Amino acid sequence: MLKVIKKREKELDNMKNLVLYAPPAAGKGTICELLKKDFNYNVLSIGQVLRNQRNPETEVGRAIIESQDKGVLTPDDIVLKALKEELAKFEGKAIIIEGYPRNIEQAKMLDTIFDNYIVVNLSVERELAKKRTLGRVNCPKCNKIYNVYFQELSPKNGEICDVCGSKLNIRSDDNEESFNVRYDVYEQNAPAILDYYNNKGILYVVDSKSSDYVYNQIEPLIKNA
Ligand SMILES: [Zn+2]
Repeated sequence: MLKVIKKREKELDNMKNLVLYAPPAAGKGTICELLKKDFNYNVLSIGQVLRNQRNPETEVGRAIIESQDKGVLTPDDIVLKALKEELAKFEGKAIIIEGYPRNIEQAKMLDTIFDNYIVVNLSVERELAKKRTLGRVNCPKCNKIYNVYFQELSPKNGEICDVCGSKLNIRSDDNEESFNVRYDVYEQNAPAILDYYNNKGILYVVDSKSSDYVYNQIEPLIKNA
């Protein structure tokens, strides 16, 4: 038994760092949770990084507050500094960066503070991503997730939750316009970013057909790469 545990610890030590790059609704969150649970990954989601570093007592923190209060994107150099601070908390541990880079400049900047990583690009076509996003419905009571655009994920009795019988609000919070903006941003930036990582020989493209499928594709890459 002891032997097995030791082997497992060794394995965890050798995990590759990972940059998860994907359009909206590609299932990044689910994959991050699975890798965190199974391999002890530390997930640095860029939104969370900025929230953690938002602090009136530091220069970086003040710059984050200023841009967020104005409702503009936080400048690339500030995001990089914030990320560097967060990375320092996990020195020597396996990391997943999610939600970053957003553009080719950020991709190049990341190489000044991060190494020993591979990039997994989860691919999902716009129409499918749109259905996943706009059709999503949560039960307000038990939190069961449905999707009205997919028969196997739809509630069986109209607007009533299968599990707890509560009335579902089938109007999605996500609107089409905001989805399109997010997907457009991705599409504009993806070619240069993917090219950059492909030329470095560290890019793996995985079709985001299901979380099981994606997990099975990623697992051998992070262990052996
Ligand atoms: Zn319910």
